Amino acid sequence: MRSTPTIRRAAVIGSGVMGAGIAAHLANAGMQVLLLDVPPAALSEQETRAGASLQDRAVRNRLAAASLAKLARNEPPALYEASFIKRITPGNLEDDLERLGEAEWIVEAVVERLDIKQSVFARIESVLKPGTLVSSNTSGLSVAAMAEGRGEAFRKQFAVTHFFNPPRHMKLVELVPGPDTDPDTLTRLRAACEKQLGKGVVLAKDTPNFIANRIGTYGMLTTIAAMRSFGLSVDEVDALTGPAMGRPKTATFRMLDLVGLDTLLHVVDNVRERSEDDEERAAFARPPELEALVAKGWIGEKAGSGFYRKI
Ligand code: NAD
Repeated sequence: MRSTPTIRRAAVIGSGVMGAGIAAHLANAGMQVLLLDVPPAALSEQETRAGASLQDRAVRNRLAAASLAKLARNEPPALYEASFIKRITPGNLEDDLERLGEAEWIVEAVVERLDIKQSVFARIESVLKPGTLVSSNTSGLSVAAMAEGRGEAFRKQFAVTHFFNPPRHMKLVELVPGPDTDPDTLTRLRAACEKQLGKGVVLAKDTPNFIANRIGTYGMLTTIAAMRSFGLSVDEVDALTGPAMGRPKTATFRMLDLVGLDTLLHVVDNVRERSEDDEERAAFARPPELEALVAKGWIGEKAGSGFYRKI
């Protein structure tokens, strides 16, 4: 049987909670990784004081570089090979677009919005080489919709590889083909996830939130509704759904803060807006508790505060 070639060069677009974690995982598996985000729209106070300009490369790469610095601080050496960080190069999608042509696998991990993902895929298509794998880390947007407007070559080379949070610990990857994904693309993505990254791969259909998030998000919404109707506190729910159930670090609200409450709202909306079942639409209504926190900007660990506040 023909063996699939090993991937040596990858790019990850979006350097947030998942993009940074996926980049670390790919680099730890030996790949050279280009990690791209958007150039910031304004200077930070520190940059202004230092007389920097929005055109400076360091400023334009700030988001990806900050994620990389956080990875270097936080990733326990026992879990990762010591020099993995050196294999990740930070950049931004505007200045480094052409460099995507060097990658054998491009992983998209930008914010969970169809319009933004579609615009990123249009940019990727403009520099796409034959044979380059392109995958999205969406939590459950439609694969077909994300590829809408792209040409045949892109659509053949594109699928979803849905990693779970945190990518270093979670073994599962959902692999989801679109209507035009080439079987060879699926074979190569599966081989990369299983053989190079050590993940277990489940093939899922292109349905809202695929398999794990359809069930998991429903479970989280049910827990929030139960908290409300029983008059429980966040701490009480986490005490019941945490250590007592063998989940010391991933009790319900600790987990939601880690996921990101803005991302969770997008994921909830995605099922509700695509569902044709009234009961399901009601079950996937936005919980007011979540909306209130997101409106205040308390979107979880990445912002410093969510259900739990960092003192
Ligand atoms: P996040 O908010 O932490 O990060 C998103 C990043 O995308 C930000 O750094 C943002 O600056 C960047 N970005 C936005 N627009 C961009 C553009 N046009 N070009 C380049 N970068 C851009 O979000 P996240 O939690 O990392 O989620 C990323 C993806 O992974 C989403 O599709 C999400 O649904 C999915 N996902 C999230 C989780 C989770 O637990 N958070 C788990 C599995 C999958």
